[in-house]
Amino acid sequence: MQDRNAVVTGATSGIGLATARLLAARGCNVMLNGLGDRAEIERVCADIAAQTGARVVWSPADLSRPDETRALMAQAAEALGPVDILVNNAGVQHVAALHEFPEEKWDLVLAVNLSAAFHAIKAALPAMMERGGGRIVNTASVLGMVGAPHKPAYVAAKHGLVGLTKAVAIEAAPHGITCNAVCPGTVMTPIIERQIAQQARVTGLPEDEVLDTVFLRRMPTGRLVRPEEVAEAIAFLCSDAAASITGAVIPVDGGYSTH
Ligand code: NAD
Repeated sequence: MQDRNAVVTGATSGIGLATARLLAARGCNVMLNGLGDRAEIERVCADIAAQTGARVVWSPADLSRPDETRALMAQAAEALGPVDILVNNAGVQHVAALHEFPEEKWDLVLAVNLSAAFHAIKAALPAMMERGGGRIVNTASVLGMVGAPHKPAYVAAKHGLVGLTKAVAIEAAPHGITCNAVCPGTVMTPIIERQIAQQARVTGLPEDEVLDTVFLRRMPTGRLVRPEEVAEAIAFLCSDAAASITGAVIPVDGGYSTH
């Protein structure tokens, strides 16, 4: 992957940050996207660059907005050159019973988890097609494969992202471009940390029982998935070795989806 240009959305923490680090370590120049404290993110970018020798830049584009998503892809091409690898990883969650689910949260979860991937892929494809190759990986979720209560927008968005992955894979394959989805189980990142209180409210469980009862019991491995384990799967799908894998939906979920 030496000197490939990669965009990783949602890369300011968790799975996306682990993926950006790994792609840089494998030789890619990387544009990280995500929200957060500018000074802290710039320190992280400098740290990755120093450790890997990669060019590492950051865009604070808000992916709930299609115009900012398109601008992100244009900025990446300007800063790094044509984009070879696109990892659509940004995600948000909201936990509430369906009959009480706020409509603006439905719109936000669909916008960031699903529509942003469409806009980014649409922007990335012309240059990939011109160059005759490319890699797209979408971070879906085990909840893109099975349902769960109290997360209707997220389950719908992640199932939609799995569908988009297959649709893109078929259209892009003749151009040497692959498009795959990874489906993590529970990874302890800010998106899960923020859910503990919400889950306690909606399930009536004490907060200290949520992790075990809501999340860990569903994974036969009985432990959290590490962000680096998901990053390894993504990096493999971005490599030349994965040229014949496209439209695949790959669980990295400790066996969650086998239930
Ligand atoms: P995280 O909270 O650490 O990362 C989410 C990232 O998305 C952050 O960088 C955040 O800044 C970014 N983001 C959120 N809203 C954004 C917006 N409007 N514009 C741009 N960036 C935005 O959580 P994570 O677990 O690393 O999540 C990464 C992906 O993995 C998400 O798509 C999530 O749905 C998926 N996932 C996570 C788990 C888990 O258990 N943690 C399980 C399955 C799937």
